[in-house]
Amino acid sequence: TYVSIRLYDGDEETAREALELCRTYETIFSRTDADSELARLNRRESDTVSQELADVIALGLEYGRLTGGAFDITMGTVTRLWDFHAQEPAPPEAAAVAEALTHVGWEKVHVEGTSVRFDDPETVLDLGGIAKGYIADRLAEYLRAEGVTSAIIDLGGNLCCIGRRPDGRDFQVGIRRPEGEQSQSIGTLPIRDRSVVTSGWYERCFTLDGTVYHHILSPSTGWPAETGLASVTIVSGLGADGDALSTACFVLGQEAGLALVESLEGVEAVFIGRDLTVTVSSGLAGRFSPL
Ligand code: ADP
Ligand code: MG
Repeated sequence: TYVSIRLYDGDEETAREALELCRTYETIFSRTDADSELARLNRRESDTVSQELADVIALGLEYGRLTGGAFDITMGTVTRLWDFHAQEPAPPEAAAVAEALTHVGWEKVHVEGTSVRFDDPETVLDLGGIAKGYIADRLAEYLRAEGVTSAIIDLGGNLCCIGRRPDGRDFQVGIRRPEGEQSQSIGTLPIRDRSVVTSGWYERCFTLDGTVYHHILSPSTGWPAETGLASVTIVSGLGADGDALSTACFVLGQEAGLALVESLEGVEAVFIGRDLTVTVSSGLAGRFSPL
């Protein structure tokens, strides 16, 4: 993930410290680093974890409950069967997916204080759908404590805006056009002091024999979620909530996702269909500017 921290006030030292903080969190949450605290927990090397890891797991489980399992941090046995960066990526065997699914279920994990208990010794946690949002929140917290009043933190699609632009106007955050160039926006939202997180099928995917395989998986089937959506953007106070909810809403689909968003205080959403139709939640009515 490319990390970009843009400060409109504050100094370079503060920015450097924030990047350092990112590296610290990576040692906790990384999926690829076999030495990360998460990797060690997945190998059951210890059942007591840092407060940070316990907090993210607990929040992830909470979103498992809230979304009826559409967001599930126990998808690790399934997600590890997929390699989207392989030279010649291929989908896993159906039998392997079916076996992996038997270890999935957020109800099988329990957090008490900083101790984590698994009902199933094989269950593997994957925090890829929530950790970046949490880290963005911690960076924002640090920057605010350092007196920064205007900044944008971007952790690869997880955006956190601190305050507003130096000229006093809201930040204009572009929502990426699901097709075409990375830099193209389908529209913009005025944002001040909010987090903006997008989950899209195009983030990590490959096409084989005419079928697109992407990285947001349905916990009920173990296969990429096909709900007619190209992306879901969540605007919320905290990035951790936005991260979990953007992934969850993608899995739930527009109807159930929108109903969930409307039921939550201070959470708004932009749904973009595969056909590029744009649907916004009630709190964003009239605020999304198409390009
Ligand atoms: P990105 O990482 O591209 O920002 P997301 O926040 O949507 O995208 O997270 C997708 C990642 O979350 C996947 O790469 C995988 O690690 C994990 N994941 C996939 N499906 C689910 C799911 N249904 N619930 C929770 N996590 C998931
Ligand atoms: Mg997410």
